[in-house]
This record gives sequence, C-alpha cells and structure tokens, in this order.
Amino acid sequence: MGLWQCRRVSQSGVAADVAVDEAVRAYNNRFYGWDDAVVGPRAFEPPFATELLTHQWFGAVWQRNAPAYLPLRYELPRLVILHGRHRRGGAVASSRCHTISIDSDACRRSWLLHEIGHLLVPDDDGHGPLYALALITLWERELAIPRAHSLKLASEHGVAVATPTRRTP
Ligand SMILES: [Zn+2]
Repeated sequence: MGLWQCRRVSQSGVAADVAVDEAVRAYNNRFYGWDDAVVGPRAFEPPFATELLTHQWFGAVWQRNAPAYLPLRYELPRLVILHGRHRRGGAVASSRCHTISIDSDACRRSWLLHEIGHLLVPDDDGHGPLYALALITLWERELAIPRAHSLKLASEHGVAVATPTRRTP
C-alpha cells in the first residue's frame, strides 16, 4: 500500500525494474486499456502549456474532491514535474509522501486524475475496485464523462468496480 508506479514501462513496453507478478501485470494492462478507452481522445490531448496551469488545475481538482474521501492527508499534495532525463516513463503516486511525480509530457488531465485517484483511495491495493469507483467519479465530475459509459467499458475490459455506498461518493 502507499506507492503506485503507473504505466512505468520501458521502450519495449515491458515493465521495467518493477517487480510485479504476471497476474498483477495482466490486470494492470487491462485497467490501463479501460482507462484509455473511457477518456478516449483526452488521452492524447496536449499537456498543459505551463507548469503554473498544471498546478492550478491540479489544486482545484484536489480541493473539489478530497473532502469526499479519506486520503492520508487533506492538504494539497506535492506535485513534482519531471523533465528531460529525469523523466521516469509515466507517473508515481505516493500516499505516504503525499506526492505525485509525473513526467512533463504526461501532464494532461487524464493522467493527473489517475494519480489523484491513488491518493484519494490509499487503502485500495493498486488498481482495485474502490480505486476504479473513485476514478469513475473523478471522470464524471472533472471531464463530464457519464458514469454509465465508464461502467459499460469496465465490464467489457474485465475491470472490477466497487458498488457505491453511503460512504463512497
Ligand atoms: Zn495507477
């Protein structure tokens, strides 16, 4: 629990220096396929034009959504944008450090929502059902993607989604 390395792949597309077993890797690939299918063309939108715009949008999304969840901390997470050779092939979210590190060329809304979701649901082990539910809610609120669309694609991709309760948004 606490650290998620998202889409950290080498150029050959094989997960690099991350020890995950085959079943987890296969599930993650299905999950990313679902994520891309739901957000559609937004997965290819250009990154935010400036770091200031990235931080502003990130902060606004956090403040709108965090109160409905149980993150380890409620203050604004640290967002570290990595450039050039410091890039890591994706993004890493650490709930313990309350930090998201993300490559500069990945600073688009869909990626940032994916990482914010990890900090909002720190008890979920990886890309589990509670996390999937949180992501669906973020997509609905922040990108106006209908919940029914996300759920239909989840079942097509074999992604498990928790059932909302009174305690989940
Ligand atoms: Zn992830």
